[in-house]
Formats: sequence, C-alpha cells, structure tokens
Amino acid sequence: MKDKGIIYLDNAATTPVSENVAKVIRESIKADFFNPSALYAPSVKIATDIKRVRDEIKLAMHAPDGELYFTSGGTEANNTALLCARKRAGSRVIIGIGEHDSVIAPANELKAQGFDVVFAPINADGSVNIRGFAELLDETVSLVSIMHASNETGAVNDVASLVSMTKTIAPKAIFHCDGVQAFGKIPVNLRALDVDLYSVSAHKLHGPKGMGALFVKKGASLKPLLLGGGQEKGMRSGTENYPYIKGFGEAVKNASGDKLKENISKITQYQEYLRKKLLEVLPNTVIITTQANSVPNVLTVAFENVRGEVLLHALERHGIYVGIGSACSSHHESRFKYLLGLDEDHREGIVRMSMSEMNDIGEVDFVVSAIKREIDVLAKFKRI
Ligand code: PLP
Repeated sequence: MKDKGIIYLDNAATTPVSENVAKVIRESIKADFFNPSALYAPSVKIATDIKRVRDEIKLAMHAPDGELYFTSGGTEANNTALLCARKRAGSRVIIGIGEHDSVIAPANELKAQGFDVVFAPINADGSVNIRGFAELLDETVSLVSIMHASNETGAVNDVASLVSMTKTIAPKAIFHCDGVQAFGKIPVNLRALDVDLYSVSAHKLHGPKGMGALFVKKGASLKPLLLGGGQEKGMRSGTENYPYIKGFGEAVKNASGDKLKENISKITQYQEYLRKKLLEVLPNTVIITTQANSVPNVLTVAFENVRGEVLLHALERHGIYVGIGSACSSHHESRFKYLLGLDEDHREGIVRMSMSEMNDIGEVDFVVSAIKREIDVLAKFKRI
C-alpha cells in the first residue's frame, strides 16, 4: 500500500476496503437509512436492491437453486451451518482438523451435545488427507464441514471429490464448506462443488468487516440461528445491514469474472517470485504452500531457527506486515504447527504472507532482503 508507506502482506487476516466499496458504503449509510422491511417506497426500493445484490453474489459463485442469506460474517455463517443443519441425535460429524476456529468451536459444542465428532487429518500442505477422510466415512454421518481453502496455508481442498465420496456412503449427510478464503481468490463454482452449504465473508475481498453470507442449496435442511423479526426469509432475523450488503456486492464485482482473472494473474506472479527469491537467499526455508494446490494469494513458509512472532515484529519495523499461523485468532498458539509434520528447527518459524491485487511485485525484493537481514540476526540467538 504505497499511500500508507507500508507493505501489507496479511490479506488472509483481512483486506483493506477498496475505494469504490468505501464510497458506496459512505453514501448509502446516510441516505439509505430506511428499514428494508417497511412498506413505503424508499424501503421497498432498498429491499429490491438487497435482492439484486443477493442474486449477483449467487451468480458470482455459480450457485445452483437455493438461497443466500446475509450474515454478520464468516463466523456466523459457519456457526449457523454447524449448529443448525439438521442432524440425527448422536450421529457422526466429520470436521477437518485444520478448519478455522469458527468451525472447530461449534464442532466441540456438538461433541458436548453428544454427537460423534471426528476430525479428518491433513497433509503437510494443510489440505485434507483424502484417505484419512474416507476412513471416517460411514452411513451414520449426518454433517461434514471441510474448508475450500486453508486460512493457514492457502491449500485448496478437492471439495467436489470429498462431497461425492460423502454422498455415496451417506446420501443424506449435509456437506458444509467454509469458502471464506476461497471466494474472490479463485473461481468458485458451487454447482460443480455440489456442497449443500457454503460460507463467505466480505472483509477477505476488500469489503466491510461484519458482513458475510451463507449459501444454502435447495433441499438442505437448516434451522435459523437467530430468531426474531423473520428477516432473510426467517433464516436470519435482524434488520438487514443494507449499506454493508451493498458494499459486499461491490466488492464481489471487483473479485469475479474478468477482474478475478486479472487479479489471479497478478497475484500468482507475486507468489511465484516471492517463493523463488526466498529460497535463493534462505535455502533452508520450508515452503509449506504448494505451487500446484493453493490459492494464489497465500505463501506460508517455515523459517529455520527463528520464531515467527519475533520475525513478525522485526519486519513491522520495516513497515512490512505479515501473519503467523492462525493469525485470524492470534491470541492463542497455533494448533497448526504440530499438524504439518515440521521438524523442531522449523516448527516455530511459520510465517504467512498473503497478498492482494493491491500489492505490487516491485515490493518483493525489499521484503526478501528485510527478511534475510532480520533472520541473520535472529538465527544467532536460536529460537529466542
Ligand atoms: N473461516 C475462515 C477460513 C477464515 O479465515 C475466517 C477469518 O477470520 C473466518 C472463517 C471468519 O470470518 P469472519 O472474520 O468474517 O467472521
């Protein structure tokens, strides 16, 4: 972000709001104060426009027949999916072990309610291990939740295959996919994925925080999490946040179709150059994010003999902002470092660099030389 004199490489945690999104929200928040449920003309106009945005977002995700419900973000969408999808009491629920905490925490709640919650293992790149997943499948499974792309490593799961395996063995199971790190980063085609539920979040694609959505395929049985005035066809009560919905729609426009293709091409070049330069100057670095199987905007690596957190603060002094494992919930230690099979010399050194189209490839040389300089100093004090 040239205007702020910083290099922001933590876009998987959140993204800066685009100028056109901010403009739409700024204008709407004053002008469009009417309650969308009221019966007079300005309210009806707002309600009609909410439908337009809903349809545009469904189109951008190539959604099959079904409904898109706006939520307060990815966390609410995930909680609704896990806690409110209809499940037989005591039945099996499969969750990826690398899921975001907004899936893991409700899954633990289901466990406390007596469901047989089991966790699918992951590979060294953070993707779900297909064989390990298959071993957990049986006809008692009523719910599966596997993310589309990992917030820790950017690994993209083969969701279509996991859905097909699930439906073969447990045809009535509901398949939820947390698409928060995928939507707006790679083409998303919900018809091809064939998932029942799909969560998205606006602030990961230069939209506002506190805004997201849950897509529910026709026929998938779901109860509401929030009860009240019956907005969102009774699935999510609470007065609709029209300015943010409008901003979300604008952000999706910037991250779909030809614009998405353009973004992917720019960010892929950045990711590849960063990977190459890092390995040139620090050959002992473990590159966790694989080239073949990841979203283009994330590069997660494990540096040797440094702590990710110490490096994060060292880089901050250069105006470079990166993430460490589980940066979305940075308050507690990452579970992740133990799941990736890293050796002791690398386990503490996980750093996630995540880009957006607002980054410029010209930043890479500066970033890599700052990392090299800091690591040379830090490595002297092995794992301080
Ligand atoms: N799921 C994933 C994979 C995420 O990375 C995040 C980010 O924080 C969330 C869910 C939560 O989304 P939100 O911040 O919109 O609640």
